[in-house]
Amino acid sequence: MTDTRHTKICTNCHMEKPNTTEYFYKGKKILRACCKVCANKKTVAHPNHKVFSNRYYYNNSEKIQQQQMKNYILQRVGVALVK
Ligand SMILES: [Zn+2]
Repeated sequence: MTDTRHTKICTNCHMEKPNTTEYFYKGKKILRACCKVCANKKTVAHPNHKVFSNRYYYNNSEKIQQQQMKNYILQRVGVALVK
């Protein structure tokens, strides 16, 4: 008893899997076209994913560093004014 509406064929491994979040990652509105197994493999195989997340982290940490630098300068200026 298999209902085709409740299964999804992975675009990567072409295996028919249940159309649930157990087998597919959720996209913005619908489940993603490739299954979790393939999505996980892709994440490992694609170094770009890591680069992107590193760059994202780098951008964020730069912001944090800038804020810290501002605070540091403000503190230094504050100390200089007191002295
Ligand atoms: Zn797959």
